[in-house]
Amino acid sequence: MENNALTAETICPICDGTGWKTVKRAGLEGVLRCDCSTATRTRNLIDSSNIPPNYRNATLETFQIPQVENPIARENLGRALREVKAFVREFPLADPPGLLMSGGPGAGKTHLAIAAMKELLKRGFECVFFDYQNLLDRIRSSYNAASGASDREAYRSALEAEVLVLDDLGAHRVTDWVEDTVTSIITYRCNQRKPLIATTNLEMSGQQVEYVSAGGINVHRKNLAETIGTRAHSRLFEMCRQVRIFDVEDFRTHRGRR
Ligand SMILES: [Zn+2]
Repeated sequence: MENNALTAETICPICDGTGWKTVKRAGLEGVLRCDCSTATRTRNLIDSSNIPPNYRNATLETFQIPQVENPIARENLGRALREVKAFVREFPLADPPGLLMSGGPGAGKTHLAIAAMKELLKRGFECVFFDYQNLLDRIRSSYNAASGASDREAYRSALEAEVLVLDDLGAHRVTDWVEDTVTSIITYRCNQRKPLIATTNLEMSGQQVEYVSAGGINVHRKNLAETIGTRAHSRLFEMCRQVRIFDVEDFRTHRGRR
């Protein structure tokens, strides 16, 4: 009776729904994965990938590179796109296995991360997207007995997904709990050689970044190591190829200084 859901249309005529098709080559007979099973797997993977609806059209092809009017931006974004394409092409043999994209807000990091993720989904790799802040909030609320199964699932998914895409890494108030949680996720994935694609607005290294606030006071802006902890930071660098993307503001500032 359960089989009523399987109408004639859903049973693949090539493989009879087995997912395997018989192929003959040079008089030999063998079996191959049927296209219908690849298509079904990709569809299921996309459904559970958590890609935000406003990035539905983000692909490597739709990534905008400025034309000649801004040669520095053109050069930088062009290089970032080439590096992401190379990563996707080499995947899963890319070494290091992950990608860390940094740059100011609006630079296109999230677009590139999601575009890379879509290429990998098409090839059948399980990729799950999380906004960093939202992931931490869901993990914390999962400790609450009244929390839903999806919050409990979030932590497991961040650990176990074949590819984890973590957007806006470090964008959370720093506490010991946050540091321990992000360290446990990154360390676990690093030890299992499970790739991570991350984006961050924060400065990478131990550089001290100061800016002048509206009140005219020098304010220390935390860098990535300070917001996720030095252990997570060093594992992150072990497992990720770095792609630095400037934003338009960066180009203005850098050019102004020269
Ligand atoms: Zn089939």
